[in-house]
Amino acid sequence: MNKVASYLQSHIAGDVLAGTKVKDYYSRDGSILSIMPSLIVYPRTTNDIRKIARFAWQLAEKGHPMPLTVRGYGTDTSGAAIGSGIIVSTIAYMSRILELDTKQKLVRVQPGLNFRSLQETLYTHGLFIPSFPANHQYSTIGGAIANNASGLKSLKYGTMRSYVDKLEVVLSNGEVIQTGKISKRELEKKKGLATLEGELYRAVDGLISDHYKALDEYDSSHAALMRDNIGYNLNACLMKDGSCDLTPLFIGSQGTLGIITEVILKARVYTPTTDMVVATFDNINQMVSAVDELVSLNPCSLEMIDRGVIDFIKKDRGVNILQDIFDEAVGTPEAILFIEFDDEKSHKRAKLAKRADKLVSKYATASIYTKDPEQQDILWSLRDSTGAIVAHEKGSAAALPIIEDCVVPPARLAEFLASIKQLGTKYKVELAIWGHAGDANIHTYPILDLSKLGDRQRAMKLMDEYLRMVIGFGGSIAAENNEGRLRAPYAALQMGAEVAQAYADLRKACDPHDSLNPGVKADTSLKQIVTLMRKEFSVVRFVDYLPRL
Ligand SMILES: Cc1cc2nc3c(=O)[nH]c(=O)nc-3n(C[C@H](O)[C@H](O)[C@H](O)COP(=O)(O)OP(=O)(O)OC[C@H]3O[C@@H](n4cnc5c(N)ncnc54)[C@H](O)[C@@H]3O)c2cc1C
Repeated sequence: MNKVASYLQSHIAGDVLAGTKVKDYYSRDGSILSIMPSLIVYPRTTNDIRKIARFAWQLAEKGHPMPLTVRGYGTDTSGAAIGSGIIVSTIAYMSRILELDTKQKLVRVQPGLNFRSLQETLYTHGLFIPSFPANHQYSTIGGAIANNASGLKSLKYGTMRSYVDKLEVVLSNGEVIQTGKISKRELEKKKGLATLEGELYRAVDGLISDHYKALDEYDSSHAALMRDNIGYNLNACLMKDGSCDLTPLFIGSQGTLGIITEVILKARVYTPTTDMVVATFDNINQMVSAVDELVSLNPCSLEMIDRGVIDFIKKDRGVNILQDIFDEAVGTPEAILFIEFDDEKSHKRAKLAKRADKLVSKYATASIYTKDPEQQDILWSLRDSTGAIVAHEKGSAAALPIIEDCVVPPARLAEFLASIKQLGTKYKVELAIWGHAGDANIHTYPILDLSKLGDRQRAMKLMDEYLRMVIGFGGSIAAENNEGRLRAPYAALQMGAEVAQAYADLRKACDPHDSLNPGVKADTSLKQIVTLMRKEFSVVRFVDYLPRL
């Protein structure tokens, strides 16, 4: 064990690991990038994290910066769960539910808690957190908050932002703060504190008043986007009445402003029974017209897959996923929509689903309306078949997460879908398309071989043109996932120079020594991305090297 590792091990209750294999494992996350860390820590308590942050701060003061990257399961697709310094992994010991108040629907948890385990506990009380990522069996609550995750039900229920009540956060100098709403008077007191917390309140207040015009302009020019995780949610910290809440700042901040050590989440009532309509279309524009109208019925899910998904699975697995579901006369549709209603009252659900079924009949070639949970599972398996694309690996070629998560204003969905197909043709890659049609948040993965120089160059060029196109549409390059490290070179292009500068100043105030996930969300160039790019890609195994408890 090196000197730094031995020092830390003697000061914290958790475990410090510095072996070559474990470091190699933690050098990757769910992205195409790789960075070798110096050591890995499994903290046991907030106090351990406080000491680690204090230690990094002191090293930086002596001119030896040591980056800190906090990590859950490391599924991040933007290269934000890797770093060259200390990886602070919360999944070993800081993964418990601490308190559940079913009356107030509040649950207090540690950041390393597995999202699905929490959800299963909440289900037994008739509650849930509606904004769960598709891969929530491999997501921690901390990672989902730091990425402001969203998913199948976010069209109706919003992103993680709507479900975080309060946070406990360790700041870059080791100070521990609690977030939550404070009055204008309390804000003035906080601003007078000679601490990093005081500095943070001063920075938030000052930056919002200095840059309110640019921040407002960005918000209003992107107001049509239902998901947008670029930058920081600075503007949401100050209310009109002068009250302040730092909570929004840390949601979607990807571990760059502080380390979340405890969370109070607001759960909602869970309705297990739903009404569902699935419709097929022989023309993408017809599907988009249906989506435009369906949104007004407030479905909890409005999802799509395109023909590319069906064709891919037919070619790759030799399976026709439509068999036994649709009449043969339907053939292979250009797109399929999945529309679900989860209103608590069954008559309301049925009424909305019937209206949806009638509405899609104007555009669709066929539709199925069902309340039967078994049939619904079969229908959802069509949407879930996209997992076969994400996990696809053949030889050293794999589905790359480089343009997997962009969003445009819903009014531009048809143009966006057509442009994606054109880019696929231009770059000679088949781009199957699926996603959250109601939010115009589209997923697509090119299959390329990172061991080949030509494919690496193609990946970079395709990503560059795709992200610029999304920005040109007035969209966001970070819808559910974030810009992280991979898309950081494009962030200022989307936000504008003044907003980017305001966020850089915010970060400087929170983290003057640039210890917290440096290079994530900003300060990474395309040149650096090329050097960090892995020469292989496979979806990593997310739970190796855990201590035996
Ligand atoms: C196949 C696949 C499907 C996905 N589907 C979705 C989806 O449907 N919706 C969606 O939103 N995302 C999705 N993602 C992205 C990602 O999985 C989610 O954002 C997930 O919630 C991240 O959880 P994690 O525990 O893996 O976080 P990690 O990857 O470990 O970390 C994510 C970020 O959060 C930071 N972080 C982690 N813990 C803390 C903490 N305690 N304090 C401060 N910062 C912290 C990390 O530094 C990093 O920047 C998907 C990824 C993959 C690979």
